[in-house]
Amino acid sequence: MAIRILINGAKGRMGHALITTSGELGIEVAAAIDAGDDLSSVITKADVIVDFSSPAATKSVLDQAIANKKAVVIGTTGHSAADKKELLVLAGKIPCVWAGNFSVGVNLLFALTRRAAGILGSDYDAEVVEMHHRFKKDAPSGTAARLLEIILEERKLTADALRHGRKGITGERQPTEVGIHALRGGDVVGDHTVMFAALGERLELTHRASDRGIFARGALRAAQWVGNQPAGVYDMQDVLGLK
Ligand code: NAD
Repeated sequence: MAIRILINGAKGRMGHALITTSGELGIEVAAAIDAGDDLSSVITKADVIVDFSSPAATKSVLDQAIANKKAVVIGTTGHSAADKKELLVLAGKIPCVWAGNFSVGVNLLFALTRRAAGILGSDYDAEVVEMHHRFKKDAPSGTAARLLEIILEERKLTADALRHGRKGITGERQPTEVGIHALRGGDVVGDHTVMFAALGERLELTHRASDRGIFARGALRAAQWVGNQPAGVYDMQDVLGLK
């Protein structure tokens, strides 16, 4: 189906990638807006709103999408767990794809991480390391947060198990810990490594993004897919048929 999209956060790094990639794929950008612009005055022009802006913008995007019966794709990260819980209730009222990472490779990494965490068990210490460009505003990344959720689910642990970096006399590592380490610097688009370390061997699953076009292509694929779906919250595993 030919869709018309509205890009929120159009002046940002992802906004630029979305505009370029839409042009390459022949997808009509009906409106491209940023902070200070009025979403309500242009929302009727589009079928799907694609939001890569700021966590502070998500509620208003969802409220207006609900009021105008529009589908949405949310790529923005950095919401608190409590905010995200409330926002997901709103998102469920319309067709919504919400993903911390729209790349096909990363979505396969999610599936591989679930399998490895299940097979290797708690004798293999799980740690996640991510690196992003110096301008990134939130940490850990939405992708790292999803990888951690998957490991916690497979190991039947809660968020209390997470260790955000380590400092000082931390004592020996407990099997119930899951470490997360966020590196920042330069122009790194996004690297994620999941490590499973036992006595005598270590498995590392690594994904490196070198071009924002991968996220834009995935988000646009999601935009084309979500327009035909009933109301509900979906992720890229749904879009890619990986479930
Ligand atoms: P950026 O800072 O380059 O761009 C964000 C843009 O949003 C800016 O132009 C800013 O002015 C605008 N903005 C801020 N508040 C706004 C508001 N209230 N309404 C409309 N626009 C607003 O950031 P970026 O690198 O483009 O990333 C944007 C978001 O997307 C971040 O949360 C980032 O983590 C996320 N991201 C997600 C994925 C993914 O695959 N899900 C990939 C890359 C980035």
